[in-house]
Amino acid sequence: MTDQQSNIDGTVVIIGGGVVGCFVAYRLASAGVSVTLVEQEGPGSGATGNSAGNIQPGSGSDDTYKIALGAESLALWRKYLPQIKAAGGIDYLEQDVRYIYAATNNQEERESRQILSDLTAAGLKAEWVDGPTAREIEPRLAESIIGGTLNQDCIQMEPKLFMAAMAKAAESVGVTVLRQKQAVGLTVTGGRAKGVVFQDGSSLDCSSVVLATGAWTLKIMSEWIGYDLQVEPVGLQKLHLGLGSAALLNCAVRWNSVNIVNRRDGLVHAGSKLDSAGFDAKPSDETRDWLLAQVAAIMPGFQPSSVETIAAVAASTPERGIPLIGELPGTDGVLLAVPSTDGFLMAALLADMTTNLMINGQAHELMQRSPLAQAAPR
Ligand SMILES: Cc1cc2nc3c(=O)[nH]c(=O)nc-3n(C[C@H](O)[C@H](O)[C@H](O)COP(=O)(O)OP(=O)(O)OC[C@H]3O[C@@H](n4cnc5c(N)ncnc54)[C@H](O)[C@@H]3O)c2cc1C
Repeated sequence: MTDQQSNIDGTVVIIGGGVVGCFVAYRLASAGVSVTLVEQEGPGSGATGNSAGNIQPGSGSDDTYKIALGAESLALWRKYLPQIKAAGGIDYLEQDVRYIYAATNNQEERESRQILSDLTAAGLKAEWVDGPTAREIEPRLAESIIGGTLNQDCIQMEPKLFMAAMAKAAESVGVTVLRQKQAVGLTVTGGRAKGVVFQDGSSLDCSSVVLATGAWTLKIMSEWIGYDLQVEPVGLQKLHLGLGSAALLNCAVRWNSVNIVNRRDGLVHAGSKLDSAGFDAKPSDETRDWLLAQVAAIMPGFQPSSVETIAAVAASTPERGIPLIGELPGTDGVLLAVPSTDGFLMAALLADMTTNLMINGQAHELMQRSPLAQAAPR
């Protein structure tokens, strides 16, 4: 399906087959661009496949601006999901989800009401509910909840299944996906990227390169072209909890930075907790116990029948989690699309920004605010 006409000569190589790289590839190829996507393992094998799969504006300590970006991205997800589903031909168990951002004291209430005001200002469906109403919706919630923002504009899906569908959808619009292919460098001639070099000794000429390399970006940029970027690999751990014979949760809850949400496969996700170990992050008893304690405190009526701990690495950017997005200053033909720890949510917007920039030369306001705008080679 072609939704625009490309004026790009030659192949765009996208390095990284997470949700961002695949979404960018899908959008560019849909616009008629020749795209090759390079992934060192398989699509979704990085942070994406291990994420909670929440498309949830206003999670974490997002400010007004990030919530507005999240709302823009959510709208793009809603626009493109039906096409991806039809082209991918795989049920990725998506669902609309209601999240209660629970408050148990005055400070939490102030924070939750600020999120409410930002969500409604961004045009999302949200309202304040008091404690009894929250417990009417989900009786297993704690008596300590005095109220919360009910965010009714979220989607959740199974990220591994989604990535299988997304890769198929990308291939259906003409993307060449190279799996198990590791890029190890760029060919830069006269200040412009002209090709990508692979570990097996082969190379590929290109008109430009999009780095959608998530947590690997810091190392790649430093070793390949000598940039020190503001992006860190951070570990994140989550739990998959069994419901046993208990009923599905009637709504999701977020409290103390932890999301608790039903998946459609019957498991409950609880997470995530940051871990400074980065690429060495491993499931730990300490994190499992901390996450279980949060679940017990906010939803004491839910007793998990089983517990699995999962750890993975994601990129984290400073500046309130603003993504590294846009053209790399100082080296022509290199673009970055690297989100912070909310990259599942932001993927649709990053793909839209990249496509608009490459095809129409239009830069979204975020690109000026991105830490990338200040980047320079060493
Ligand atoms: C436990 C957990 C829960 C999360 N929950 C959520 C959530 O609910 N909602 C949300 O919005 N975000 C969530 N996140 C964050 C989210 O998963 C990430 O921000 C997002 O998936 C990043 O996508 P990406 O495509 O940028 O990176 P990745 O998915 O990490 O993809 C990068 C890819 O690049 C490939 N690559 C790297 N270097 C090379 C190379 N040299 N050659 C070829 N390929 C290469 C890697 O193999 C990898 O597949 C969560 C993360 C974790 C770990």
